Amino acid sequence: MEFRFELALCAALESPDRVVSRQLGAGIENPGGRIVDVCVMTPGPAFDRRAAITADRIPDPAIEAAVGPGEAVPLTEAFDLPPDRAEAVADHAAAVGYLERERRDGRPVVRATARYPDDWVGSLTAVENKPDLGSPGDLAAQLRYDAALGLFDHVVLATASYVTRAHLNRIPDVVGVWRFDPDTGDREVVREPTRLAPDAPGVEIRDERALRTDVALVTADAKARKRRRIAERAYGKGWRPDPPACAHATTTADGRPYCEQFERVVNPGRDCGQACEAFEPADPPATDRDALRDERTAWVATPDGAGPRRQSGLSRFR
Ligand code: SF4
Repeated sequence: MEFRFELALCAALESPDRVVSRQLGAGIENPGGRIVDVCVMTPGPAFDRRAAITADRIPDPAIEAAVGPGEAVPLTEAFDLPPDRAEAVADHAAAVGYLERERRDGRPVVRATARYPDDWVGSLTAVENKPDLGSPGDLAAQLRYDAALGLFDHVVLATASYVTRAHLNRIPDVVGVWRFDPDTGDREVVREPTRLAPDAPGVEIRDERALRTDVALVTADAKARKRRRIAERAYGKGWRPDPPACAHATTTADGRPYCEQFERVVNPGRDCGQACEAFEPADPPATDRDALRDERTAWVATPDGAGPRRQSGLSRFR
């Protein structure tokens, strides 16, 4: 239920002035401590410059390396990393098109293909999905975590349930609430989110117990670095899962994996393969997910460096 809800919401949220992604790590001191279900990014002023570099995620150590588009610098000076790691990061960054590698006087040197823009992200919204508010699990704690840390500009709870005043009272006031119907794609704003303060220091809740809460203070710089990592991950990853390699598999028009045998959207990692008695190995359906993503969102599949291609307006979730 939650997986199908999540993919339907991602599909419904796509628009030419957004980038939508799902399942992103959002903990800072405890990186695995928080995974957000859906992340919506809106473009900032330099979005087109970032999009012109590569369609992929640029690895963070390459962005932080002491290297720009001017003079090539020796690999050992560019990275404050052990040589093996510096080598691996440079290779990865070259493969995605952010760094160029060559040898000078027998030594490896690197140069950036473009200056990495600082202000390419307009806003980041975290959406927590809880289709059925009747079994909320640790929803309230997750939302308290997001509200205290303030890593995202906005935090929203998305549900298919009818939302009562009692539900609203259990979650932080700053969290917005959407009621979403995964069958029709209709979304109603029950409560607008309040903008958080991603530029200010935050408080990361590490453990909540009855009589004490363990927290870590997080600086504004650490939050800014994490936001850049999340934006890069969101930009490179998107939300469409690989469709199953099964003869019964196809995809919906918006690219969700669909099973014709059971007539529903499926979770390939959980429903398909040996776990399914109707599984028939075959090539996966030939859906061009990159073309869909390029057409429906701000993400650019094949950057040509030709400058701005689209207006980057900020959209409201209405
Ligand atoms: S593996 Fe099973 S659930 Fe998945 S597409 Fe094939 S028949 Fe459908």
